[in-house]
Amino acid sequence: MSNTPDIESRRRFLKWATAGAATAVLLVGSPRFARADDLPALTETDPTAKALGYVENGSVSGNAKHKAGDVCSNCQFYGGGSTGRGPCQLFPGKSVNARGWCLSHTPKKG
Ligand code: SF4
Repeated sequence: MSNTPDIESRRRFLKWATAGAATAVLLVGSPRFARADDLPALTETDPTAKALGYVENGSVSGNAKHKAGDVCSNCQFYGGGSTGRGPCQLFPGKSVNARGWCLSHTPKKG
């Protein structure tokens, strides 16, 4: 005995709904989609931060390579707003200060 089209379409719907819910759980739980507020703050003592000369306040970096006005918020690797903290592609899973700076600073295009 074959299933009626109505039962088949319900089965297909349930399969898609289950797959969609599982995908949503994976995306929400992924660090890539974590909000900046949820990310632990990068510290200047972090080994990678030290290696890249990261400072919380770029205006007082003391680094000869720092150019006036360069801060995380105008760096292409930064994903946050102009104030507070935000994610940086070079420090996944951590947040950097919008006013911070490091040797890898690359001005945003446009
Ligand atoms: S790469 Fe850019 S956003 Fe990341 S810490 Fe360095 S200056 Fe800030």
